[in-house]
Amino acid sequence: LEESAKLATVLERLGDRLAAYDDWGQPAQYIPSLARIPARQFAVAACLRSGQTVTAGSPEKRFSIQSISKVFTLCLAMGRHGEQLWSWVGREPSGTSFDSLSILEAHGGKPRNPFDNAGAIVTTASLLSGREPKAALTELLDFVRYLADDEGIYIDNEVAQSEAKTGFTNVALANLMRAKGTILEPPELVLGTYFHQCAIEMSASQLAQAGRALAFLPLAPSAISVSQRRRVNALMVTCGLYDQSGDFAFQVGLPAKSGVGGGLLLLVPNQASIAIWAPGLNAKGNSKVGIRIAAHIAEEMNWSLYS
Ligand code: GLU
Repeated sequence: LEESAKLATVLERLGDRLAAYDDWGQPAQYIPSLARIPARQFAVAACLRSGQTVTAGSPEKRFSIQSISKVFTLCLAMGRHGEQLWSWVGREPSGTSFDSLSILEAHGGKPRNPFDNAGAIVTTASLLSGREPKAALTELLDFVRYLADDEGIYIDNEVAQSEAKTGFTNVALANLMRAKGTILEPPELVLGTYFHQCAIEMSASQLAQAGRALAFLPLAPSAISVSQRRRVNALMVTCGLYDQSGDFAFQVGLPAKSGVGGGLLLLVPNQASIAIWAPGLNAKGNSKVGIRIAAHIAEEMNWSLYS
């Protein structure tokens, strides 16, 4: 209770604090339907282990979760393929931009980790193997709805189409991986599924709810086992913010996953699941103000992985 009161105070003061920020970054320019979203807005929703939820800004406003979806896809892919998954995708930070072709080629077409674009295209492909894209997307959406305990979560088709028209780098990544045999499905089917998965829309409240299972909520092992949860948390620490993951560990010290929609899922293991959204990005493709909010909350609440 004390904790939720403290967090409520921190979040109450957040609006005033943010009002003083001049530079909110720029929404993702390469996805046309994201490019026009005004940068000066934010949302925070925090679900605490005690059952309380504390919010700030516009917690019910829906945004494109983009790469945050990769966390949920990874959970399903781990469940579906077990250890075999790691023969197709690595688990090292890439140290390069989220859509780097050169690092993929340097490693013979095997992505460095499941959170850069190439790696997520592989985990998405692994959900397809032998079935229609629609079946894989239905499974993913059902899984996210189950985790969030909310049936009202959908894919924004306009965003998916928008990205399908302009996602040339992702097309190149998928083709390179098809050529090297990392994926065996037709690249256009895999990409169609990948773009739709990235176009899942959620509010900060829904995303924080869904994150509980990765932070503290015990689930049936068939949904997410304890060992899977730990592994996903570890990958969020090492690879969750692309080539800013090291800096984020240094500044904030908590597992997180970003998306180019400006979202950030921040976990406080055993304590809280926090969704943050501010659509303007920094040069690394992560939410500029979102990172500042995460750092502020971690500091004020004295939350860190590192004692
Ligand atoms: N859909 C985006 C892309 O493939 C996801 C990238 C991100 O959110 O970081 O470019």
